[in-house]
Amino acid sequence: MLYAVLCDFYEKIERTTSRTLMTEYLVELFKSTPPNLIDKVIYLTQGKLHPDYLGLPELGVAEKLAIKAISRAYGFSEGEIDAKLKELGDLGLAAEFYCSRKRQVSLFPHPLTVERVYKDLDRIARASGEGSQQLKLSILAGLLVDATPKEARYLIRTVLGALRLGIADMTILDALAITYAKSKEARSKVEYAYNITSDLGYIARILATEGLEGLKKVKVEVGRPIRVMLAERLSSPTEILNKIGGKGAAEYKYDGERVQAHKRGDEIVLFSRRLENITAQYPDVCQYLREGLLAEEAIVEGEVVAVNVDTGEMLPFQELMHRRRKYDIEKVMKELPVTLFLFDILYVNGESLLMKPYLERRNMLKKYVRESEHLKIAEAKIIDDPKELEKFFEEAVEKGCEGLVVKSIAPNSIYRAGAREWLWIKYKRDYKSEMVDTVDLVVVGAYAGKGRRAGTYGALLMAAYDDKEDVFKTVCKVGTGFTDAELASLPDKLAPYKIDHKHPRVVAMKEIAPDYWFTPALVAEILGAEITLSPVHTCGWGEIKPDAGLAIRFPRFIRWRDDKSPEQATTEKELIEMYRSQLKKIS
Ligand code: ATP
Repeated sequence: MLYAVLCDFYEKIERTTSRTLMTEYLVELFKSTPPNLIDKVIYLTQGKLHPDYLGLPELGVAEKLAIKAISRAYGFSEGEIDAKLKELGDLGLAAEFYCSRKRQVSLFPHPLTVERVYKDLDRIARASGEGSQQLKLSILAGLLVDATPKEARYLIRTVLGALRLGIADMTILDALAITYAKSKEARSKVEYAYNITSDLGYIARILATEGLEGLKKVKVEVGRPIRVMLAERLSSPTEILNKIGGKGAAEYKYDGERVQAHKRGDEIVLFSRRLENITAQYPDVCQYLREGLLAEEAIVEGEVVAVNVDTGEMLPFQELMHRRRKYDIEKVMKELPVTLFLFDILYVNGESLLMKPYLERRNMLKKYVRESEHLKIAEAKIIDDPKELEKFFEEAVEKGCEGLVVKSIAPNSIYRAGAREWLWIKYKRDYKSEMVDTVDLVVVGAYAGKGRRAGTYGALLMAAYDDKEDVFKTVCKVGTGFTDAELASLPDKLAPYKIDHKHPRVVAMKEIAPDYWFTPALVAEILGAEITLSPVHTCGWGEIKPDAGLAIRFPRFIRWRDDKSPEQATTEKELIEMYRSQLKKIS
């Protein structure tokens, strides 16, 4: 397959402002892709080489090295290329410019194929140790020599890790179902297969080579993360109990980092909420699981919580994040010990437990886990009385938890991989105050800073995620709450996502008119005073009143949530719920 086909697709995607067209272009691309290449094509369109969970080396070539490669391939000096980069603000465009003016023209050009590009990019990603810089340089220069100007643009963006097309997994699933399965019913089968494997390339390859029938053999497997189940939220014990049939299992909501642990024999792999491999951060947790998880093979989920070395008390989430930044993990383990609180079991010794109801899974968890100081089963209580639920909630908060997750115990209370549904409902401390809870919103635009803020941004345009339409809808502009350092670093932090038009997955009204647009990627935690009706924001449009959406008043930036992907931001539906429950409190 010619790499040019892929580059034409990239170009079309970059120009489009419609999600429907985005899907159509994907279908077109899949149709022109040989079945045995489909996985690679999908990874490449997502700007990577492998599914995240494998934790294999990805591209991230330094700009300097890329400049050297362009210089070597096209016969211009590094200084000239650097100057062009400054002028155009994008090394991809600079490469394209020099490629079209190259001084050495090859007599026997070899058109680039996707096979070769993928193989060479993978070699670049894997090169390490002595001589690796030279190797990367010569492979990249070799590719550039054979590239057309447009191909040079995308090759450079890809190796820099800067090919940000913003194509969501759900859009790819839509396109796969249209291309290979052709029915609505098929879409849910494709999605289920994805939810239990978290690998779009793998699913696509099965679909392309064996069709829908092939998906039957896709099973839960140790080593392949299952997409996590999420909770809805409500703000009163009565509402919560009503919603789940009068009675449910209330569990402490621990304030730490979610992990999905996979065990085979002595080997343990830990995945984060985003399904990245985070095993290296928690060698202690792996050891606790080796000792306390009494099954040859198992997949369990829980929350890792930092505990005070002296008192054993639970510490808030922020403390745990220190582990991410430290390199001397042995030392950190002593300074910042953790406990893993297990709340679910999804698989044991060859059997998937996803379709088993909650109580059965909970019993299995008890059967296969031997508790110790640092490995515990989440505190839980079956409750049918709102007063008792409130009491249990206060108790959880007092112990350092965020609140409760109340779980359905009905016969259909399965583990819904990849879904946020009413089988789990969270009840958090913040909802008790007059103010709304913090929300996690996605940066989609920005306004230029003036006066003291010249050179950086004055405010960011934030959006909530609409999981039905798979788009982002604006809900506020946030300009306060940033420290000076955070403000100063905004341009750099946002630069990789800057685009010159509204992203197709962003829904905004003309009146909003930000100075800059971004591919939805960065998530920030925001605290507001209240939610009001708004004539200019699209979040919740028409849900409360025909011609109004929702806005967050007095929003403050709290912190970045780099552990969340944009699709894991607060949803439009959640904001509507928050607005309604806030109204109830006032009336
Ligand atoms: P939040 O930011 O409020 O933690 P979230 O978007 O990360 O929410 P939700 O599904 O809305 O995730 O809330 C459930 C989260 O709470 C889980 O992702 C998990 O990390 C955490 N958690 C803590 N204790 C439990 C528990 N007992 N059962 C389920 N989830 C729990």
